[in-house]
Amino acid sequence: TEEIMHRTEKLSVVGQLAAGIAHEIRNPLTAIKGFTQLLKKEDNNDYLEVMLSELERIEDIVSDLLILAKPQPSKTEKVDIGLLLKETVDLFKSEALLHNVEIMIDIEISDLFIEGEANKLKQVYINLLKNAIEAMPDGGKIQVSAIKTRSDQIVTKIIDNGIGIPEERIPNLGEPFYSTKEKGTGLGLMICNRIIKNHGGTMKIKSKVDIGTTIIILFPAFNSGKSPAIIK
Ligand code: ADP
Ligand code: MG
Repeated sequence: TEEIMHRTEKLSVVGQLAAGIAHEIRNPLTAIKGFTQLLKKEDNNDYLEVMLSELERIEDIVSDLLILAKPQPSKTEKVDIGLLLKETVDLFKSEALLHNVEIMIDIEISDLFIEGEANKLKQVYINLLKNAIEAMPDGGKIQVSAIKTRSDQIVTKIIDNGIGIPEERIPNLGEPFYSTKEKGTGLGLMICNRIIKNHGGTMKIKSKVDIGTTIIILFPAFNSGKSPAIIK
């Protein structure tokens, strides 16, 4: 019965996700269809702008879904989380500059290794840094840090001083399609959760409205005996 329960649970999550996807994709499609019909009658650039932005939305949703759905073969390696964080922060240099955001990085020199898939781990920090920048429309600071604890855990933190999240909303985070943004997909944190869990890690979110948000991620250090053998 345990397996059946497990399967039922899985199906309901998939069903929920499918319903959410259908809904999310239908809205921009309906808009594009409507504007295409209008365009047939007259030439109007405003319609094209709306269509383009709705198409971009579909593109965002579909590419996030692909990350969730891809049954990639797992190929784990020894990943230096410090280096990976530095590389990821570098990707955001121009984006940060554009939004008046300063990213400070504080990383222990060495031995921040975990077992995992570098590309997927990078995706986690891309999603989190994106959220942090989006939480600071008037600019601000992001602090990124990584340490190894004495109990053989790699702890990374991403701290922003952005708009924060109301306490009662924190349980909603990571639910598919929960987004407070006009152009959000509400899939970023769900993807993070999935990847972190598959690496034997955990993610904690602390936040205060108008003060900021701290995302704490714990991974078992490489060879600490707790590393996952298989990563899905
Ligand atoms: P999206 O970014 O597409 O909205 P996410 O899953 O990445 O989807 O985030 C879900 C929601 O969580 C966001 O819409 C936002 O309300 C909240 N959130 C996530 N990260 C932060 C942050 N650093 N500061 C404030 N709110 C955040
Ligand atoms: Mg996001």
